[in-house]
Amino acid sequence: MNADELRDAIHEGMPGSLSELERLVRIPSIAFPGYDTAPVRASAEATAEILEAAGFAGVHLIELPDEDHPAVFGEVAGPEGSPTVLLYAHHDVQPEGPLEEWSSPPFEPVVRDGRLYGRGSSDDKCGIVAHAAAMRAFGGAPPVNVKVIVEGEEEASTAHLPFLIEGHKDLLAADVVCVADGGNWRTGVPTLETSIRGVVDCRVTVRTLDLAVHSGQFGGAVPDALSCLARILATLHDAEGNVAIAGLASFPWSGVQVTEDELREETPMRPGVELIGSGSISERLWSRPAVSVLGIDAPRVREASNQLVPVASAKVSLRLAPGDDPDKALELLSRHLVDHAPWGVEVTVEQGEAGHGLQVRSNGPAFAAMHRAMETAYGRAPVEIGSGGSVPLVPVLARTFPLAEILMYGASDERSQYHSVDESVDLGDLERTALAEALLWRELAPH
Ligand SMILES: [Zn+2]
Repeated sequence: MNADELRDAIHEGMPGSLSELERLVRIPSIAFPGYDTAPVRASAEATAEILEAAGFAGVHLIELPDEDHPAVFGEVAGPEGSPTVLLYAHHDVQPEGPLEEWSSPPFEPVVRDGRLYGRGSSDDKCGIVAHAAAMRAFGGAPPVNVKVIVEGEEEASTAHLPFLIEGHKDLLAADVVCVADGGNWRTGVPTLETSIRGVVDCRVTVRTLDLAVHSGQFGGAVPDALSCLARILATLHDAEGNVAIAGLASFPWSGVQVTEDELREETPMRPGVELIGSGSISERLWSRPAVSVLGIDAPRVREASNQLVPVASAKVSLRLAPGDDPDKALELLSRHLVDHAPWGVEVTVEQGEAGHGLQVRSNGPAFAAMHRAMETAYGRAPVEIGSGGSVPLVPVLARTFPLAEILMYGASDERSQYHSVDESVDLGDLERTALAEALLWRELAPH
């Protein structure tokens, strides 16, 4: 099929794609602890039916060993000798959050101004629908081997990723992996995510006294733990706001350049507050480390009395430049906190999570093919962005399939408000995402 035939087929299939998406959004498939698992199973079953109806064969659920959050798998063999594409999406969603803040109920899909509103519409049920639409456009006979895996607890847990991915290495083996859980930089602007930051965290505890003592009697000579903790935390940044922990990696950013106005528009930053750090804003968001204090355990103000605080602790989170070694970074962070303790106070560091980031290989044939596919689908060349948050799946994929090229994209956009209230997806971008995917398969087919 040529590009125009695919474009027409996807377009004609859009009413069907929309009703598939509405069907999925109606299922509250929240895989968080404490939630009923029945809807997660129901959304897995609905996903399986949608994939099967689109032309996928061998569709079946992959049961997790100790959790009722099944994944869904399907595949279609392409012509002999053609490469294999693995498609990824997830069918579980975030909890709905405060119901009264939604303009329409989260699990009752509704279209307003060309966007479908509802929980999971953009994250990531549109990914399932895009995969199905691309397969349907080829009438179930794609020009490459296509496999699909739709995870059932992406939002809630990373515990089963090794089981699901590494444990099904032969089933999932592919030359190209399409992770359709990302989104467009702006509506109608095709976007490839090329990097993911890593993340580590720790809990630092400062102790100055065995017990609280009176601040009037001893203050002035005896240090309190909270002041000491504040001094340590203050050393995490230099005066400009750059991360002051020595030895961390960073690199220049060559993709989309975020402007200060855009950043201010997207965040509820108070007007007088300055941006921190140096270098381009994109670098600061995507390719340099970033450190934040997430919480402090200390007496509450309303319970505070005239005592020197004997012990205080803080949770510190450090985002890493893509590719930086998280174990090494956690060591550097821990050592920094201990080394910057004032006045000989006791400092202990409990190390937390260490998550890998990743810089995607962007010089391979599949990356170039997706560039061409997106340009045809959207009528403009794609831009490249980084992901500031961590996406634990992708490093697992990279480790399991070291030779595969990984493409990260999706139909959500800057207005999608995924994880928040009034989540939505632009139906035009959903259609263009499905078309780009179908065109990618065509590009990858041996000519
Ligand atoms: Zn997602």
